[in-house]
Amino acid sequence: MFSYRHAFHAGSHADVLKHMMLIAMLRHLTQKETALTVIDTHAGAGLYRLDGDYAGKSGEAADGVIKLFAALAPAPPAQPQIKDVAPLLQDYLGILAAFNAPGQLKIYPGSPFIEQRLLREEARDKLKLFELHPTDIKALAGNIAQLEAGRQVAVARQDGFEGLKAFLPPPSRRALVLIDPSYEIKSDYQKVTACIQDNLKRFATGTYAVWYPIIPRPEAHELPRRLKTLTTQAGKPWLHATLSIGQAEERNVPGEPERGQGLTASGMFVINPPHTLKAALQVALPQLLQVLGRGRGQGQTLESAG
Ligand code: SAM
Repeated sequence: MFSYRHAFHAGSHADVLKHMMLIAMLRHLTQKETALTVIDTHAGAGLYRLDGDYAGKSGEAADGVIKLFAALAPAPPAQPQIKDVAPLLQDYLGILAAFNAPGQLKIYPGSPFIEQRLLREEARDKLKLFELHPTDIKALAGNIAQLEAGRQVAVARQDGFEGLKAFLPPPSRRALVLIDPSYEIKSDYQKVTACIQDNLKRFATGTYAVWYPIIPRPEAHELPRRLKTLTTQAGKPWLHATLSIGQAEERNVPGEPERGQGLTASGMFVINPPHTLKAALQVALPQLLQVLGRGRGQGQTLESAG
């Protein structure tokens, strides 16, 4: 346990998909005056360096956000590779820019920092963060302390699947829950479905977003199917988006450390999605694939019901 460190994966194509969808949901949910509670059950360290050892070793950001940034937000006089960049991608790149010096991309904000940035002080929105890794919880607490956000943000060294329960339903009855485990242990898949099943009973109208890896493992294939079944049984709408960047033809450069294919695809399953999410993704996902797609097996899907 605890071998997973998100620093190796920060800014990967999977983070791009997850964080882009997170932004779309938060933009919509923060339009109503009533307070919103955001719960991030697996928060990570919060902030990551893209020019450090971790990102360099894995090369995942290079195939993800760094590639996207170079293609769609190049330093002038270069022009973006795509003429009309999707509003959601522009929004995502704009949020990244707020954490970096002009024209640079050295810092990558993880989900807690993206969430905090979009929450409103005046509406008394709240952010609850859970993290278990002994190093990452320290980094997260330190990074959050620098925001001086006071009671708006709470950080807990606790199992997010368990800790979540105490906050549902929130007093304002409006919440977005991000469930983003590392799936380094097989039981995470089953814990996700049990968590959704349990919390839909506790708070049926919350928005729940589950990220998962698309890998050749029965549990990973089963997860979206199980989520669809239990969401449909609960009579709730859902949206399911996937992005596969496909296989890289040439991975290894002579003289450099060997790189495997890494994770090539992932998905997000959202229960009670904001009604604006699908339309935003219909424009953004094909562009994302156009920039990040790298070969055999690449593709994107978007389906919804309810
Ligand atoms: N949500 C983060 C983001 O998007 O920036 C990335 C999170 S990373 C995929 C998963 C994190 O969950 C890791 O930092 C891991 O240490 C932590 N973790 C693993 N099991 C946990 C649990 N049961 N409760 C809370 N955190 C856990």
